[in-house]
Amino acid sequence: MNSIIHLLPDHVANQIAAGEVVQRPASVVKELLENAVDANASSITLLVKEGGKTLIQVIDNGTGMGDTDARLSFERHATSKINSAEDLFRLHTKGFRGEALASIAAVSHVEMKTKTDDEDLGSHLIIEGSSVVQQEPCVTPAGTSIAVKNLFFNIPARRNFLKSTTVEQKHVIDEFQRVALVHPSVAFKLIHNGSELFNLPVANHRQRIVGVMGAKTNEKLVPVKEETDLIKLTGFVGKPEFAKKSRGEQFFFVNDRFIKHPYLHHAVCSAFEGLLKDKAYPSYFLYLQVNTQSIDINIHPTKTEVKFDNEHAIYSILRSSVKHSLGQFNVAPVLDFNKDSSMDTDYGQNKTTAKIPSIEVDRNFNPFESETKLGNKAFHIDSFKTKSTASWESLYTETGEDQDDLMDIEVESEQISPSLFQAQSPTYQSSGTFQLQRKYIITSTKSEMLIIDQHRAHFRILYEELLKNITAQPALSQQLLFPLKLQLDANEIRVFKVLKESLINAGFSISELGKDFVKINGIPNRLPESETSILLDQLLSDFENDIPDSGFDQTDRLAKSLAQSMAIKNGSVLQKEEQTELVNLLFSCKEPMLTPLNRLVFIKQSAADFDKKFM
Ligand code: ADP
Ligand code: MG
Repeated sequence: MNSIIHLLPDHVANQIAAGEVVQRPASVVKELLENAVDANASSITLLVKEGGKTLIQVIDNGTGMGDTDARLSFERHATSKINSAEDLFRLHTKGFRGEALASIAAVSHVEMKTKTDDEDLGSHLIIEGSSVVQQEPCVTPAGTSIAVKNLFFNIPARRNFLKSTTVEQKHVIDEFQRVALVHPSVAFKLIHNGSELFNLPVANHRQRIVGVMGAKTNEKLVPVKEETDLIKLTGFVGKPEFAKKSRGEQFFFVNDRFIKHPYLHHAVCSAFEGLLKDKAYPSYFLYLQVNTQSIDINIHPTKTEVKFDNEHAIYSILRSSVKHSLGQFNVAPVLDFNKDSSMDTDYGQNKTTAKIPSIEVDRNFNPFESETKLGNKAFHIDSFKTKSTASWESLYTETGEDQDDLMDIEVESEQISPSLFQAQSPTYQSSGTFQLQRKYIITSTKSEMLIIDQHRAHFRILYEELLKNITAQPALSQQLLFPLKLQLDANEIRVFKVLKESLINAGFSISELGKDFVKINGIPNRLPESETSILLDQLLSDFENDIPDSGFDQTDRLAKSLAQSMAIKNGSVLQKEEQTELVNLLFSCKEPMLTPLNRLVFIKQSAADFDKKFM
């Protein structure tokens, strides 16, 4: 019988291998940068176009390759870094599998120029889908330049799978940062679509971290240092008060290699226990050196996972060193970030003695009174000033009568908002409002009591309004007396540019957008100036990790973030007029029942429920 098993041709084998090594442009970036570092380059430039979809080029001044090596480097399992299996346990280089170039060449157009120091001429190679189509001598500086074009040109399914330029660019920046952070003695540049995003001179670790993450990082860093028989640990953790709500600034490097390790991540987080506000992640830049024989980095083709022999011991060392540093640098525990600041005593009152509280009762308050004093339009909290003053009672009338007249009419109409009192008696009687625990607004219809969460209600109102502003007419903004200057890192600048248009429509006015800062001279009407920088910081980090592709999703997310931050907080006292206005605005919303994040805005209790309770 004829044999049916045959060996796959090289180009097919390479394409299969490429599936593991090359997932997206960022994977190519990682491999090329690591090769340049392995070649002892002291200066590396990365040029990228359209998030790497059309071009990824790495230029280094490293050892370069001779003619034969240049051609061999694209063969599968061609490596200069190991000779025997034992070498796997003595690794001091990034690469060792000899797969990267072969895999990359299998799925793209590659052009390489390379020259060693002691030769006069270098080689110029052109490779398309695994085959060398040209090799000739050329004049080129010592070192290597590899350009990878049209990634996945021969695998349309994977090409279509690539995300938008912004998303791919974000991944490229991530990889670039990971390599740059661990090699401060190498100068790095990143140029995207012709503009320089990073220019990092040779530096020490701290300077490099600041160069990569932005100038404002410097004040946030607390050094960590520990040396035991097992590991040598150096690096920095971020002060807890700067912890962000998104992951991202978390870097472990083991023997100069970026790795992901949930268990060790947990060790660091546990050192922060009690120091972080809700759902915040600490940032860290930790460099571990361990004996090469005590780890296995061979378990994952992209080499971001390692296995340690002494995981538990490393866990404890890590946890206690981080704890120690936080303690030593006087990072005092902050136990309750959500504490209501309105409950704090004034400093001025610290020395006075406590008085016995007296109870004040509003004797004029009558929950059954059917009249409110809406005639009083003097409305002092800015947060409720709004163009829409349509009162929700008008939803229940057929005619557009003057609101003030409506107040003392019991409206019995068929025209009800279906979303509000479905299948219920269509009556609303303005009964007045009151606030419970600075948190809930209580009001009633003829047969029901409504308990409204004030923060969520305002969140809903602002969200609908912002959505309108961002998409249709730009919102009003308040001019700042002194423009606000925010330091941003390259990633934040990138996100800022994407969001710029929407931010302007939401009421921000931007006077200058520099390479690492932005100047803002106007902010949305309702946004307290003091909260602007925190809000933008949070907004940018929300978007940093996941920029929605479509314009609509982006607007929607922006409106949600802004509205949530701008909404009045629980714990704020609301005046009567503000309470009424809040209720009115809420019920002129399209979806008053739920917050934009689908949480309940109010609950209802019917008179019948009360009747039962009183039986
Ligand atoms: P690996 O890095 O695992 O050895 P690669 O496919 O990435 O495998 O590279 C194959 C070989 O090509 C490397 O071992 C190295 O000898 C050579 N090489 C690749 N990139 C460069 C470079 N930028 N400068 C000098 N030599 C390089
Ligand atoms: Mg390599």
